Amino acid sequence: MTVEESQLNPIHALYEPYPLTSRYPKDRTPWISSFEQYKAMHDQSINEPDVFWRLRASELVEFDTPFHTVCSGSLGEGNVKWFEGGKLNISYNCVDRWAEKTPDAVAIIYEADQPGGAKSVTYKELLDQVSRVAGVFKSFGLEKGDTVAIYMPMVPEAAITMLACTRLGLVHNVVFAGFSAHSLAERIRDSNAKAVVTSDQGLRGGKIIHNKKIVDEALLTCSSVTKVLVFERTGAEVPMQQGRDVSWSKALSEQNEFVPPVFVDSEDPMFILYTSGSTGKPKGLLHTTAGYLVGVAMTTKYTFDLGKDDVFCCSADIGWITGHSYGVYGPLSLGVTTVIFESVPNYPDASRFWKTVDEHKITQFYTAPTAIRSLRRLGDDFVNCTDLSSLRLIASVGEPINPEAWVWYKSVVGKDLCPVVDTYWQTENGSHLITPLPFATTTKPGSATFPMFGIEPAILDPNTGEELTGPNVKGVLCIKKPWPSIARSILGDHDRYLTTYMHAYKGVYFTGDAARRDEDGYYWISGRVDDVINVSGHRMSTAEIESAIIQNESVAESAVVGIEDEITGQSICAFVTLQAGLKESDQIKKSIIATVRTEIGPIATPKNLILVNELPKTRSGKIIRRILRKVASGEADQLGDLSTMSDPSLLAPLVEKCCRWV
Ligand code: ATP
Ligand code: MG
Repeated sequence: MTVEESQLNPIHALYEPYPLTSRYPKDRTPWISSFEQYKAMHDQSINEPDVFWRLRASELVEFDTPFHTVCSGSLGEGNVKWFEGGKLNISYNCVDRWAEKTPDAVAIIYEADQPGGAKSVTYKELLDQVSRVAGVFKSFGLEKGDTVAIYMPMVPEAAITMLACTRLGLVHNVVFAGFSAHSLAERIRDSNAKAVVTSDQGLRGGKIIHNKKIVDEALLTCSSVTKVLVFERTGAEVPMQQGRDVSWSKALSEQNEFVPPVFVDSEDPMFILYTSGSTGKPKGLLHTTAGYLVGVAMTTKYTFDLGKDDVFCCSADIGWITGHSYGVYGPLSLGVTTVIFESVPNYPDASRFWKTVDEHKITQFYTAPTAIRSLRRLGDDFVNCTDLSSLRLIASVGEPINPEAWVWYKSVVGKDLCPVVDTYWQTENGSHLITPLPFATTTKPGSATFPMFGIEPAILDPNTGEELTGPNVKGVLCIKKPWPSIARSILGDHDRYLTTYMHAYKGVYFTGDAARRDEDGYYWISGRVDDVINVSGHRMSTAEIESAIIQNESVAESAVVGIEDEITGQSICAFVTLQAGLKESDQIKKSIIATVRTEIGPIATPKNLILVNELPKTRSGKIIRRILRKVASGEADQLGDLSTMSDPSLLAPLVEKCCRWV
């Protein structure tokens, strides 16, 4: 591609941070308004971390007892501690202090599954509810350090439950309410939960989910649970086990005393969360109190340029880390309004997100590439029938976002007036690692750009572990210094924590992802290390090939995997879904191959190209390449743990398609 061509093609363009458009509030300036300001703060966060974090902690979080040490321990030893000596309470920080200062400000807007069913909860009401649930927990005999499993739909009561746990120093373990009874039971047993909070049923996209029934089944194999609190979401009759099961509405109405927050140590456990499982057996990551809150509050403020009057919407389920950090704790710790979205992007039709934005005048919207790609597939009309003029920023998380989808998001959804913020991070990190800052960073579609404050990334040679310091390098992505919201352990298996993250490469945290740093210092996440494909000695990233494929106008989504090849070591096998309404044909296949050859070169030509209706995904919407690799290699009988797969019925047609050529 020539220089002129690359300038013409929007996916290779540079996007300057915006001069503030008419959408930006007149009475505000962005928190970070130039790249120099970002650089200066980032330099301080790396060179004088104690000064930087002491400032952030005092700006963002109220401690009941001040901390004496900012940070101790090291990544290599896996014993990092933050803000030691301090005592604080999460729910006080997210609820009480705003209920005092701005009692009538809206804390939560609930966008119910059925359009038209929205309601809001003010900070004052939130405090009342959180205190009541905490009272119920006390009546259950739960004490600081006990674990509560939460298996709830996306309703305000889910956030209220999380906050009630943290109010008493209880450790929550939120399990996405889409997991089977078996997976739920595994997570309850592993975390030794004493109580479960659930709902009679859930509603998603008009479909009923039998939450209580699933909990009942799970509990047949969980002896640790003695109490189940059941929120009435639909009001359906569900069996209630006497002595164990308690009605939410009844129990809350009986609470008449205010329950004060219990101040806990900075390093006391706050929650456990199991990873979504794109790569194998889920791990229960343990997060602690002060570091998590400071990290999340800091990143929410700067990454989304969040201010008091904003209405922030993160579409991720609370069952994932994104729902924890940016659906609940981040916005509430800043006293801002958060939108809890119960539905799915295509119910009742594919304009649901955008109608929700209009209805609640959402200012910052945060979703995942899987949603962006699937909405792009259905065409622009679903976006263009809405207004979207309240939006000031749009953001993405969860997978590498293909440049083509990035540009669509920016132009069709953001009307070229909203910065696109592609945030890279993991369950293990608690908060953003690499991300643009909306009014400071010049963006390149597909790149998460530069490190967040406190994050010092390194790209290492995967074989020698040596740091590759120059520009234009590819390797494994590691982080050199501890940051406050890093998970402290894997529950019950600290050795696995050490071997997975801390001892893979000496003295650094290993993300498990591969990355490239380009000539301008931008980071490009190229996917998981296990997904890197090696064809005749050329190491290629899945993200790079997939992004080339999706540039073909017929393509909606793609996933590539490397399979063993006698001649080239590995060969590329590409799975592709087409734009809505298109039918499989040899011509389309040829045109897709031609696109890859033009975009990357003949070396990236897929040896096999398989058109499918759907790609296998985790319940959080990420493509599971591990499964595709097995299927494509004729090892469909050895797929391993499938508990995190969203729709296992996709497997049979996939296997059948592959059998034709394996
Ligand atoms: P498991 O660890 O159980 O396999 P998971 O890695 O999918 O599951 P998460 O912690 O939810 O669980 O996801 C983190 C991973 O998602 C990252 O390691 C990275 O591979 C990918 N990811 C998240 N955000 C981005 C992004 N903005 N760009 C590229 N990749 C991303
Ligand atoms: Mg992971």
